Amino acid sequence: PFFGKMIKPKEKHLIFGTPSYTAGTKGVQRGHVVIAPTSDEELEDMKDKIKGAWVLIEGKNNGWARDGGRRHEPSEMTIKIKQAGALGTIQLTTFPIRLLEGKVDSWDNLPTLADIKLLDAQYNEIKEMVEKGEEVVLEFDIRNHFKKGPIKYHNVIAWIPGSKFPDEYVVMGGHFDSFDSATGAVDNGSGFTPAMEAIRLIAQAGGRPQRTIMVHLWAAEERGLVGSQDWIRRNPDKIPRIAACFNRDGGTNAIVGLSVSEAMYADFEKICQPLYNLNPDFPFELNKSKPRSRPIRAGGSDSSSFLMAGVPSLGWQTRDVFDLGVTYGETWHTNLDSYNKVVSEYQEHSALVIALVVYGVANLDHQLSREGFFIENNEKLIFSFPSMLNFILQEP
Ligand SMILES: [Zn+2]
Repeated sequence: PFFGKMIKPKEKHLIFGTPSYTAGTKGVQRGHVVIAPTSDEELEDMKDKIKGAWVLIEGKNNGWARDGGRRHEPSEMTIKIKQAGALGTIQLTTFPIRLLEGKVDSWDNLPTLADIKLLDAQYNEIKEMVEKGEEVVLEFDIRNHFKKGPIKYHNVIAWIPGSKFPDEYVVMGGHFDSFDSATGAVDNGSGFTPAMEAIRLIAQAGGRPQRTIMVHLWAAEERGLVGSQDWIRRNPDKIPRIAACFNRDGGTNAIVGLSVSEAMYADFEKICQPLYNLNPDFPFELNKSKPRSRPIRAGGSDSSSFLMAGVPSLGWQTRDVFDLGVTYGETWHTNLDSYNKVVSEYQEHSALVIALVVYGVANLDHQLSREGFFIENNEKLIFSFPSMLNFILQEP
């Protein structure tokens, strides 16, 4: 939890955030505001003023911790500002406030200077007042604490055993951890809940799948696909017998299509028949996907853990069918990722589609073909986390 307000010249609630793994305050801390020095000479001149102050620094929040990069490597100026006794730095952020993290490499090198990202209107207002020589006093209470691990994570797994081929599987789900700037309702509440609803619908309808249907709610995806990687490591016997993996981790939009390989197409044409007339508001399209490279590195989402292991992970196409203006970039690891951003009609429809498709695959009288799903012999393509990040960060 965190709280901040302006005390002088007037009381005002402040809208801000701090990236994960950055420093908190030492309890409630109150201090005046100064603008950061731009040279060592300036720093020498204003050392007395920096003591006990919040320091307005340049640049614009891009989600990561203050000193660029994804590691805690404070710049020389940051170190000097800290040594001069500053309470923390304040940087401008636009809305919504995206908060990622600063990687901390060692227990002996923890960040200790608060890294506040303050909403642009308030940042600019404060800066203007300070430039005019007005005294501005702010108070922050930021409870970021470092605790020694290890931390225990739990995957949550449920299944309906197959009636005819109990040792063959269809798996669906998504990660159920989230980033901490909001409650993670979209990323990834909107992703994993349709799988929970789908298995409930199947059970409720008295479904008796021939293959085992599993729901996976993955832990610690945001920490590097920890939960899915671990499950795959512990279940090598199941990997060759998973028909397909359906992972959802791309936002709340409604499922309107599915891409499958050439060799699977005929099976899915049959499986998807009930989807075309399910609801006139939501069209459905079955597409053929080209063979893809098998990733050699974990990235993106838990589907890549399965792809790395050679399990076909099939991608849903989704769309903002009612033109509600849903953009994933707006909520992705921002302070807006809360319940009101999840579209219940889309969730409901997606759950129905998933239930029908997964049940259909589970009831095929033969195994789903893996033929031609991957390009043979590829070592080159790297499906990496940073490339997905760049894509999202480039969105307006
Ligand atoms: Zn996610």
